[in-house]
Amino acid sequence: MLIFSKIADLQGYLSPLKSNNQTIGFVPTMGALHKGHLSLINASKEVCSLTVCSIFVNPTQFNDPKDLERYPRTPEKDINMLESVGCDVLFMPGVEEMYPGGSKKELFDFGYLDKILEGAFRPGHFSGVAQVVKRLFEIVKPDKAFFGSKDYQQVMIVKALVKQMNAPIEIVPCPILREPDGLAMSSRNILLSPSERAIASNVPKIMESAVKLITNTGIDAAKFFVQNEVANIPDCRYDYFEVCDADTLEPCKNLEGRKTYVALIALFVGRIRLIDNLVFSL
Ligand code: AMP
Repeated sequence: MLIFSKIADLQGYLSPLKSNNQTIGFVPTMGALHKGHLSLINASKEVCSLTVCSIFVNPTQFNDPKDLERYPRTPEKDINMLESVGCDVLFMPGVEEMYPGGSKKELFDFGYLDKILEGAFRPGHFSGVAQVVKRLFEIVKPDKAFFGSKDYQQVMIVKALVKQMNAPIEIVPCPILREPDGLAMSSRNILLSPSERAIASNVPKIMESAVKLITNTGIDAAKFFVQNEVANIPDCRYDYFEVCDADTLEPCKNLEGRKTYVALIALFVGRIRLIDNLVFSL
């Protein structure tokens, strides 16, 4: 695997390949890699001739400086993992390389999409995500970019960004990889203490029960159930549970039948904020 930290070196390597009609697949990450990230690399390798992964802990998408400070960083392990699945290129820039002259926030407007759910609870988060993804897309110029559906709203934001940029990049959403107990894999999971990790295994169970309740009793009953469940688990703090149209992410009050929905949750286990979602159809 080739590793670049400078934009000019990466582009110097990629541009002859691009003009040679090679398809470039791109997987942007913040490192502390797990099997969920590797599944994106594998998805890219299946359909693209060259796969580029980036690792950059983007300061502009953290609304909580403590979250940024404690975000896990495991570069050597990440490199080994990427080599084990045959990733072709790793781009690992520093903050100065990505944001010369300072990491000033760029503002974006995605209508309601960046104001609900994560956008409401993490103000400015999606502008930061759009800023870094736009910059990375301009640097790598991929044909396809692979994103995990664990960050469901992020996938929608990135699709909207590509439209705004008018860039010929296909956004490929990939399934959520889970631990054997159902917990969605996340870089933040390694920050959970053993007892918090045990508590976190309740999240997928609550989501499964909530989706059953939605179809049997309705959305309000499911919301009430989730709030109560979370309130009854020690060290947990509820942020939101919403049911949205899976295509538009518009929050739903009632089920209209024959549609695909997505139930989304965010909560704290101790100091660690977890998100998860479940897509279902009627
Ligand atoms: P991150 O490093 O957390 O910014 O994530 C980088 C990419 O990996 C994003 O597209 C995430 O949605 C994706 N990802 C994170 N966790 C998972 C997972 N459990 N399954 C699949 N993709 C994931």
